[in-house]
Amino acid sequence: MPVVANVPNNVSDTTREALKGMIAGEVFVPGDSGYDEARRAWDLAADQRPAVVVFAESVVDVVRAMRFARSHGMRVAPQSTGHGALPLGLIEGTMLLRTSRMRRVDIYPATRTARVEAGAQWEDVTAPAGEHDLAALAGTSPNVGVTGYTLGGGMGWLARRFGLAANSVTAVELVTPDGRLVRADAENEPDLLWAIRGGGGSVGVVTALEMELYPAPELYGGALFFPIERGAEVLRAWREWTDGVPDEVTSMGRILRLPPVPEVPEALRGRAFTLVEAAYLGDADAGAELIRPLRDLAPEIDTFTTIPAPALAQINMDPDQPVPSVGDGAFLTDLPADALDRVVALAGPNAETPLQSIEVRHLGGALAREDPGHGAQAKIDAMYVLFAGGLTPTREAGEAVGAAVGTLKEALAPWHAGYDYYNFVEIPVEADIVLPPASYERLRRIKADYDPDEVIVSSHPVSPDRPDDMTGTQR
Ligand SMILES: Cc1cc2nc3c(=O)[nH]c(=O)nc-3n(C[C@H](O)[C@H](O)[C@H](O)COP(=O)(O)OP(=O)(O)OC[C@H]3O[C@@H](n4cnc5c(N)ncnc54)[C@H](O)[C@@H]3O)c2cc1C
Repeated sequence: MPVVANVPNNVSDTTREALKGMIAGEVFVPGDSGYDEARRAWDLAADQRPAVVVFAESVVDVVRAMRFARSHGMRVAPQSTGHGALPLGLIEGTMLLRTSRMRRVDIYPATRTARVEAGAQWEDVTAPAGEHDLAALAGTSPNVGVTGYTLGGGMGWLARRFGLAANSVTAVELVTPDGRLVRADAENEPDLLWAIRGGGGSVGVVTALEMELYPAPELYGGALFFPIERGAEVLRAWREWTDGVPDEVTSMGRILRLPPVPEVPEALRGRAFTLVEAAYLGDADAGAELIRPLRDLAPEIDTFTTIPAPALAQINMDPDQPVPSVGDGAFLTDLPADALDRVVALAGPNAETPLQSIEVRHLGGALAREDPGHGAQAKIDAMYVLFAGGLTPTREAGEAVGAAVGTLKEALAPWHAGYDYYNFVEIPVEADIVLPPASYERLRRIKADYDPDEVIVSSHPVSPDRPDDMTGTQR
């Protein structure tokens, strides 16, 4: 149990005014007219009800908010977009510390690096980096937050070539739970750097990340759309194809049911497909040759073309506006025909399912290679990762999607790896469920050093390894 207790949600007027007086950004408490807007996460299925919401404008605001929370016995939940808000739950009595206004991005083409403030979204980085033919290790969506994504690993379209985004972070600026601003890199506070590189945000509030960028002069990417009825055939062909592709190819097999809403292009609206999506780091001729076996299956729609790096974020067609959605994922050691048949039985053409998207991404390549400088997710042994979910306009819809994902995960249990992918688990579980066991134990020791009182609330909590804790692993 945290040593810092949650305070009641009714913050007094005096306390609120004191906090407002020291913050350049904005402060909201329950009852304020802007409170509901301020507490709203990008994932509209999340219902967070913090004691106070602080919109930090600067590092100084973050330091002051942290010290204020500390002196008032409040816990602090850092958040940028709220794409990953579901695991947090209600967070009553907590300070929700939003960094979403801190979006400055500096690109350094000469060193192929970027410094990115904690509230930046991926498109804030990919667009200016792309002007120099450089790519950042962004995910499938342009508006996911750089910080939450990277702290949880960060797996995008160049993952098989360059690994997890977390392992390309070279330095972090962070406000510790005792209110100190530190810059951690390989030489200074290396434990902090290790912890945030894949271990989530449990040791402080990140204010900026420094990261490597990669040359991406030519990229070929897109999606092949097949009728959902061809699910088993297409997914099996994709699976076999992944055995022979180079690290420059990152791909996924997917079943997608598009809602009948005006935001979806007319040709796709309300329809269901089996897809293969892929990105190739190389020229169009070589890319076309690589995907030829899948093209030979005669897709109904083929969007493969030469694209600039920022356009990688269009391949997966992720929603560009906040939506209510629920999902969950799992690392899979392999994906034999039997496993694919189970996916098709539960989500294919004949299935009655509330799941709208079931994707399986191909891993391996750089993701599977460990480097001594890597962080809490140093390498991934699993060869595939599943993510399945759906839109959930009502609580009942949320329960139905949650149950359907659970059934799908259970059906794939024979191929389930030992732990799950941090970023794809949207249900409240401790970090030991989403990290390799040795990493979790090291993270517990770092948590005990930096945040023994559990001030920081993170999406997947870490229990500090206290020397007198008879239930935990001893140092
Ligand atoms: C549409 C969509 C597409 C996605 N695609 C991918 C993908 O391709 N690859 C992938 O790996 N993941 C993907 N994800 C998962 C995504 O990476 C996680 O949801 C991630 O947590 C989102 O980060 P965020 O900063 O936007 O969210 P937030 O909800 O703002 O943050 C999530 C968590 O990160 C931590 N955190 C955030 N900011 C800070 C901070 N300043 N200091 C300390 N801790 C902090 C906190 O624990 C917070 O609860 C996707 C999610 C969605 C909804």
